[in-house]
Amino acid sequence: MFEGEQTQTEQRAFTGQLPAPSATSRTLAEAHHRYRDLDDGEIADYIPILAEADPSWFGLSFIDTTGRAHEAGDVEVAFSIQSISKAFVFALVCQARSHEFVHERIGVNNTGLPFNSVMAIELNDGHPMNAMVNAGAIATSALVTGETPAEKWETIRTGLSRFAGRSLELDGRVYRSEIETNQRNKALARLLESYGRIITDPLDSVDIYTRQCSLLVSAHDLAVMGATLADGGVNPVTRERVVSAEVARDTLALLASCGMYENSGEWLFEIGLPAKSGVAGGIVAIAPGKGALGTFSPRLDSAGNSVRGQRACFDLSRALGLNLFASSPEPPHR
Ligand code: GLU
Repeated sequence: MFEGEQTQTEQRAFTGQLPAPSATSRTLAEAHHRYRDLDDGEIADYIPILAEADPSWFGLSFIDTTGRAHEAGDVEVAFSIQSISKAFVFALVCQARSHEFVHERIGVNNTGLPFNSVMAIELNDGHPMNAMVNAGAIATSALVTGETPAEKWETIRTGLSRFAGRSLELDGRVYRSEIETNQRNKALARLLESYGRIITDPLDSVDIYTRQCSLLVSAHDLAVMGATLADGGVNPVTRERVVSAEVARDTLALLASCGMYENSGEWLFEIGLPAKSGVAGGIVAIAPGKGALGTFSPRLDSAGNSVRGQRACFDLSRALGLNLFASSPEPPHR
């Protein structure tokens, strides 16, 4: 303690409270209105079926840790979860294994390179680096509980369903479109195998990973899934504990550093929330203890993040007081 700061010793840091429910709902509606005509960005087409998305789709959902929903726009439109699945599969593996295990076997540092980079593996002696890039996610899916690929897939499907609070289903068209065209992911898995960094048949792991990416969700589902991490691992709608508070904490730490591809630093600097995005246009952004935003709009920037989703999260983080790093001394009346 420094001299002259004695009067501060009784104060604790306070990260604020959410606005009243009606004001929160209004703020979401305003953000939706502000960005619904923004047409910047491109729809992903390297997985052919994703190109069929309607560029006008735009949904914003915020679920707070009491389970209350605040929503605007296309919050029930179904789309494939894609890379956002990586966050929740990582949580399931953390729960089944341990903090030390995932730290050592997968890693928790950003590669600074695109999500499907071969060079990232080569530069790091075959280490997958983190579970939010494809190499790390494929290695992580191999670690899921189950004796056979079918059992591992069921662990993932039911586990992610518990985060969402409803049974999630695979979109067979998305799965087939990706599995027929994902030679790069198969190459990444083979490269990991050459370094002895994957514990099962590499192509089985790519298959499981591709299935998990093909699960259908809505912006509402993403907000519930994120709110489960915001609520210390308890789904605030179903009240079911899905993972431990420690696993929720570790997952959020990883999302803060690696969740938004190579733009994770910029995202954290501007928005200040752990988050994960996917190439179908979804984003989940989590405010620990407060709730989570689920956004959906298919046009992406060059890093693969939804343009409207990012703009909305930027505004909502400020308007709802969600930024993790924004604190002030606790008000005396609390
Ligand atoms: N299934 C996609 C892939 O592996 C996910 C990419 C993403 O959403 O970032 O390429």
